[in-house]
Amino acid sequence: MVTISGKSVFGGVSIGKILFYKRNDKVIKRTHVDDVEAEWKRFQEAKDTAVSQLKTLYDKALEGVGEANAMIFEIHQMMLEDLDYLESIENIIRTQEVNAEYAVATTADNFSAMFAAMDDAYMQGRAADVKDVSERVLDILCGVDTGLVEMTEPCIIAADDLAPSETVQLDKSKVLGFATMYGSSNSHTAILARTMNIPAVIGLGPELLQEYDGHEAIIDGFSGTLYIDPDEETMRKMQEKREKDLEQKALLEQLKGKENVTKSGQKINVYANIGNVSDLGTVLKNDAGGIGLFRSEFLYLENTDFPTEEQQFAVYKKVAETMAGKKVIIRTLDIGADKQVDYFGLEKEENPALGYRAIRICLTRPEIFKTQLRALYRAAVYGNISIMFPMIISVGEVRRIKEIIAEVKEELKSEGIPYREDVELGIMIETPASVMVSRELAKEVDFFSVGTNDLTQYTLAIDRQNSKLDEFYDPHHPAVLAMIQMAAENAHAEGAWIGICGELGADLELTETFLKMGLDELSVSPAMVLPLRKRIRESE
Ligand code: PEP
Ligand code: MG
Repeated sequence: MVTISGKSVFGGVSIGKILFYKRNDKVIKRTHVDDVEAEWKRFQEAKDTAVSQLKTLYDKALEGVGEANAMIFEIHQMMLEDLDYLESIENIIRTQEVNAEYAVATTADNFSAMFAAMDDAYMQGRAADVKDVSERVLDILCGVDTGLVEMTEPCIIAADDLAPSETVQLDKSKVLGFATMYGSSNSHTAILARTMNIPAVIGLGPELLQEYDGHEAIIDGFSGTLYIDPDEETMRKMQEKREKDLEQKALLEQLKGKENVTKSGQKINVYANIGNVSDLGTVLKNDAGGIGLFRSEFLYLENTDFPTEEQQFAVYKKVAETMAGKKVIIRTLDIGADKQVDYFGLEKEENPALGYRAIRICLTRPEIFKTQLRALYRAAVYGNISIMFPMIISVGEVRRIKEIIAEVKEELKSEGIPYREDVELGIMIETPASVMVSRELAKEVDFFSVGTNDLTQYTLAIDRQNSKLDEFYDPHHPAVLAMIQMAAENAHAEGAWIGICGELGADLELTETFLKMGLDELSVSPAMVLPLRKRIRESE
């Protein structure tokens, strides 16, 4: 048996086989070829294989997710037959007498740079497609396999690290747990594991070897331990631990339907955070009073192109209808930093956490923002939707947002499309600037929701993604708590309500502190709703 210690991200015990996530790390070298004719033929064969793979994917997608979503695979096939694209590859092979891999990679870079430089958002989105489809050909030429082989049974996913975009694309019904070499407890992959209710251990280091692929393993998400090829004694102990955990969860079931009220009668709303429609099941199962944060950017992360207004409308409507009148707070697009989407064509930045992200993208690319707002205002007809804006630093930003909303409503009205007029609006308090001007901001909006993950990062000047700094990243720091207190006082002074939707909201050591501050709401991962209710009911 091999025992590796890491950091716990989410409790629970899972037992199953390890499946290593393979990432494409091929290096494309430029090499001279004598027989250019044979090289061109080698490319054409790889291209034909790619086209037939795409045909199969199209048929599969057509059955599974419908024509609109399958279309992308048809577009990719067309790209591979595009005359300009083929001519560029042939030219490079013949005139420079080089290998097909180099010719494809160079053409992909040139074409995607050309698309990315165009003004039109749709054409910019094509940059990622050219890259994607060229990667497929390169994989065939290099003989590499990427991503996950078809998961036939539920597995423990092992990886060096997982990007949020990779995590959201996994078939969640087949994931027993996550075990990664690197990663920080505050990263979005860690947050996703919590939302998905999946035991996870990160920071296991290089001892997590590829050769364990296919081996039996146990994740102890409570202690942050991974056991590979467990002996009988460990297996027995872990099975017992799992049973106990399930018993505890069954006890919490008795709290369903009960109020979130302290012994002295103080009430607080307990809502849940989600990233996806598929999380709604656990929200309902855990009896959350509403949704305090729907991270809408995951919709963008799952897609290969900008989600259309109709696509978004369908998702928001479904969430609103499923929650049947309960509050659903949808946060507008928070792309950037660790949440990267190729088709946005964002440039690499020195300091992405301090960079072009979230509302900064929305305010400078209003066509993207307006599509989302139109979908939200339309969907609001079907339930109790509130809209929340991330990364706010000034009153000016909020006023600009309101102007754009007014334009969106005007457009919907003139097109005769039904929408809701009086949607509740709020902002995230996740920058020290927003705290310092919170009195003014509170006059502009209906509510605040404190994003403690980013607020801690920006207050303490600690990159939440940097696992080396996990021991310094202290969300209990008095500076962070003073920020929350100040935002709460200013919100209430102006008649706005305030909650927390960052991970700190689920920290049971601070529940009494938050109650004393008079917070109106705490929004936590679905599995934390009942433990939090228990803690509230035990408080004075
Ligand atoms: C936060 O920053 O606390 C938050 C809730 O947003 P995210 O974790 O998605 O940045
Ligand atoms: Mg944030």
